[in-house]
Amino acid sequence: MKTVYNFCAGPAMLPTAVMAKAQQELVDWQGHGISIMEFSHRDKNFVKVAQEAEQNLRDLMNIPDNYKVLFSHGGGRGQFSAVPLNLIGLTGKADYLVTGSWSKSAVVEAKKYGEINVVAEPTVVDGLTSIADPSQWQLSPDAAYFHYCPNETVDGIEMFDEPQVDVPLVADLSSTILSRVIDVSKYGLIYAGAQKNIGPSGLSIVIVRDDLIGHALKTTPSIFDYQLMSDNDSMFNTPPTYAWYLAGEVFKWLKELGGVEVIERINLEKSNFLYNYIDNSDFYYNKVVPKQRSRMNVTFLLRDDSLNDEFLAQADAAGLLALKGHRSVGGMRASLYNAMPIAGVQALVNFMDDFSKR
Ligand SMILES: *Cc1c(COP(=O)(O)O)cnc(C)c1O
Repeated sequence: MKTVYNFCAGPAMLPTAVMAKAQQELVDWQGHGISIMEFSHRDKNFVKVAQEAEQNLRDLMNIPDNYKVLFSHGGGRGQFSAVPLNLIGLTGKADYLVTGSWSKSAVVEAKKYGEINVVAEPTVVDGLTSIADPSQWQLSPDAAYFHYCPNETVDGIEMFDEPQVDVPLVADLSSTILSRVIDVSKYGLIYAGAQKNIGPSGLSIVIVRDDLIGHALKTTPSIFDYQLMSDNDSMFNTPPTYAWYLAGEVFKWLKELGGVEVIERINLEKSNFLYNYIDNSDFYYNKVVPKQRSRMNVTFLLRDDSLNDEFLAQADAAGLLALKGHRSVGGMRASLYNAMPIAGVQALVNFMDDFSKR
């Protein structure tokens, strides 16, 4: 198999060791003669896999006991609906900070269920985008919760400090979960689609504080009702069992590596390496204010954008895949999730340097 590095924003690359193990036990899971995906979700073998995955995630993120962990359907966008359905009933109103395109989409969805106040949008000064400073936020006193997206996958912008607000903090961590240490106790609810840093698509993780469960609007679909999901250990209906199993293998891999502190240092090294190269180049540039640049999704542009197609074609031929930026922003994007080794970033920088010289 030829060496390629997959920089796709999602579904994204998974750790090579995890894929190899999954392949090895695909048709015969631990000597049972059937695949893990062929077990009933009620079977004690699968239940054990499921419980172990949850425990490993709890260990990795240091999740306090008064938080439930749900393994849900519907990806990130499913939670764009589930969050307001479950929480907005508390006051009928919620605050949303817009940091980029995903949080903007979350607002559109939430508006179906209650009054949504956009507290601020990103600003552009001298061609550099930044997240609005907290001093400019227009908070509502009676919001049921404050929603934000710390890492905007499309825009390549990331916010490293938690907002200081008096209402439950809700975060879409789809593209940054497990990439750096966070203090779960500062949040009311965290959710993440799996296909960036956790596993295959089809699964999303919800980490929710006990007191925020049990307030769902009557019209909430059962599979999105946190109370029902929690009471049934995320098995009110058939969960995405294979995705759950693979997520569990990714959690084991990360634990063996040394956990989130260790991967955070590696992620910092990877993204610094690429940003430093971009900043010292007069061929490439980045449009995000330096202190808010994403560690997971590095966006960059070519000063001569007529070379974009050539850049992408040659990168692809060199085994550097999926570098095209999101269609809404153009340019390039290199997603450096946990599974991307440093060697992949070095290969990318070598290619970029070579291309610019040629
Ligand atoms: C990918 C992504 C989503 C959407 O996830 P789906 O599973 O496609 O619904 C939402 N938020 C963020 C931050 C993402 O990166």
